[in-house]
Amino acid sequence: MTRPPISFEFFPSKTPEGVEKLRNTRRQLAQFKPEFFSVTFGAGGTTQDGTRNAVFEIQSEGHQAAPHLSCIGSTRSTIAELLTSYREHGIRRIVALRGDIPSGMVDVGEFRYANELVAFIREQHGDWFHIEVAAYPEYHPQAQSAEADLRAFVGKVNAGADAAITQYFFNADAYFRFVDEVQSRGVTIPIVPGIMPIQNFSQLSRFSDMCGAEIPRWLKLRLASFGDDSASIRAFGLDFVTELSDRVLSQGAPGLHFYTLNAAGAVSTICQRLGF
Ligand code: FAD
Repeated sequence: MTRPPISFEFFPSKTPEGVEKLRNTRRQLAQFKPEFFSVTFGAGGTTQDGTRNAVFEIQSEGHQAAPHLSCIGSTRSTIAELLTSYREHGIRRIVALRGDIPSGMVDVGEFRYANELVAFIREQHGDWFHIEVAAYPEYHPQAQSAEADLRAFVGKVNAGADAAITQYFFNADAYFRFVDEVQSRGVTIPIVPGIMPIQNFSQLSRFSDMCGAEIPRWLKLRLASFGDDSASIRAFGLDFVTELSDRVLSQGAPGLHFYTLNAAGAVSTICQRLGF
């Protein structure tokens, strides 16, 4: 059986030490032959240079790099310039997002939702870019309703997305239900589960509250029961996330996208345990 495609996500580093650490992380993760490495983008363009530098470096190392591109707070001309520069550097894949309005930013710019960005990329560059969009198996925190969010997702796909990556989740049923729901509405693109390693309970709780990913009660209690014993949290997290990854793959997920938080350790262990 051929191994499912995997990808690894990083955030751009702001310091020379961070850039060097990211290079090391990349070297370690490259052994798993990912389909691509993606690099996040601060909404409003706050990490624009960091994202560009990181993706160009990844590309120059011979890997496929996928910049994230969030459109909120941007103009059509800024996005057009960035797309042209990516194309000139041979980038073929973009993760297209709305992003979140940074606090204090009043001007939301010329794009309101990710479907408008997807349509813009297609209008400007035809099929040059493989476009990934975000999917939310437990629904986006600002969605008016589950139904409205499903419709918004289908809208992004109809605007021209080639594939989707999900927000992380710890409940595999939410993922499969979401896939069933959108497939019943005609969606056929791959919807790849986003996998978040569990390393630090308080950090994970904070992230999860912000992005609307639910930590099930039993898991929260289990993690809380380890208190400050971070080695036990990591050991339990590795077992749990490996099982979750194995389960989604064995039930038909088309691949895995790992949120690495710029560290190779946990993600490498999960990939090794999965036999990659
Ligand atoms: P959209 O798909 O536009 O949806 C946003 C909200 O608007 C949803 O509630 C949706 O239901 C609603 N909506 C959508 N379309 C319509 C419409 N036409 N009419 C009415 N309502 C609508 N953020 C970053 O800043 N940088 C990153 O690099 C980044 N990478 C990410 C990668 C992945 C895989 C994921 C899952 C998320 C990422 N995010 C990133 C977070 C993301 O930007 C936020 O979740 C953001 O709030 C929504 O972006 P979106 O592209 O999903 O938006």
